[in-house]
Amino acid sequence: MRTIRVRAVVGDWNVGRVKEKQMSDSVNSMKDLPETGITTGGTTGAFRDVLSKDHARRGKPPLHFADMTEEERITKAKDLGLPKFRVKQLANHYYGHFDVNAEEFSDFPAAKRVEAAEMFFPTLITEVTRQVADEGTTIKTLWRLFDGSLIESVLMRYPTRTTLCISSQVGCGMGCPFCATGQLGLTRNMSAGEIVEQVRVAAKAMRDGEVAGGPGRLSNIVFMGMGEPMGNYTSVLSAVRQISAMPPEGFGISARNITVSTVGVVPGIKKLMAEGIPVRLAVSLHAPNDELRDELVPMNKRFNTTQVLDAAHDYYLASKRRVSIEYALMRGINDQAEHAKLLAKRLNHYGDNWAHVNPIPLNPIEGSRWTASKPEDEQQFLDILHKAGITATLRDTRGQDIDGACGQLAAKERD
Ligand code: SAH
Ligand code: SF4
Repeated sequence: MRTIRVRAVVGDWNVGRVKEKQMSDSVNSMKDLPETGITTGGTTGAFRDVLSKDHARRGKPPLHFADMTEEERITKAKDLGLPKFRVKQLANHYYGHFDVNAEEFSDFPAAKRVEAAEMFFPTLITEVTRQVADEGTTIKTLWRLFDGSLIESVLMRYPTRTTLCISSQVGCGMGCPFCATGQLGLTRNMSAGEIVEQVRVAAKAMRDGEVAGGPGRLSNIVFMGMGEPMGNYTSVLSAVRQISAMPPEGFGISARNITVSTVGVVPGIKKLMAEGIPVRLAVSLHAPNDELRDELVPMNKRFNTTQVLDAAHDYYLASKRRVSIEYALMRGINDQAEHAKLLAKRLNHYGDNWAHVNPIPLNPIEGSRWTASKPEDEQQFLDILHKAGITATLRDTRGQDIDGACGQLAAKERD
């Protein structure tokens, strides 16, 4: 059994003692943690009061294959008069071949194909518009959900990888004032099926050569679209499992190539850590101290920079995966030498090489009083981090001309 160092935090997020524990112990104790802050519906729990006013239930999305347990799938199949092995065939079509079309189920009894497709693969996301940039290698898609909600995903093809940025909530209730999604408030959580469908459609488009550059493979997933993944933990985790499992249980995109980005919901980080899945964690810090972060990230009042960094470092210790620290650079606000120095100091406090800083040039949003940093300040920020021994790379802002870059996913229907 692997021995790892974890911080003993059970029942008290502030306890800072570091203990040697075995993974199984830590996982078991994590299971006993209160559900604080992580809700399935987004209307209860520790951050209930920072959710938007409009989180009225609009009914649930149709139940999809990707929402069902194996038992549920088998029961539904029985209802159609189909034996158990047909469920495996459907899983193969869905995860292995990205197919949901009845006509494609050639191994299925002809009389049952349409019924099976309707029962298991209701349409959850419908393309409204598609915007293309960077010679066809960046594609932002606006999707309509069953209840008229709009969400977005962005596909970015690079020479050695193709990344899909996906949404996990309709809007977001965390209220970061510089973020376009934050301005929308939270409408509702997305179902696992709605999240997974974004991935299936993009994986299919890549395989079928619909993205400039010819046929290829979707290799990376980032939960950096609309929403706070930890605010929709259960569905996000189910999606992570379905994205990473090998076919026919999932799409076979390595968990190591999946990044879950959080504004700093500490119980969510702890819970994810206890799952023992090697996904990469990204933490949106944006400020090196509480005074400034209180202003930029309302969630800081619930979980402050010390709690967030402690949790991020614990995640690193448990997962052995470097944590990404996201830091949107805002001119004159958080981009000065003093901020970079303090950030370096606070990260180095935990040791070397555990975090990678991703300064993000701010994508200014309509009506926002914040603007992007001066290039020389960006450079200075990076230089200070590098001199302090911290790896940092400026996030590229692909798709900025189509509002496809981070924090600009506001799902406004265009003419
Ligand atoms: N809610 C999660 C994930 C979605 S946001 C989170 O906040 O981490 C994805 C990233 O885009 C986050 O790091 C977020 O802080 C950043 N972001 C938000 N608005 C931005 C903007 N206007 N310019 C640049 N980055 C932004
Ligand atoms: Fe929500 Fe993330 Fe935007 Fe903050 S930055 S409002 S947490 S999507």
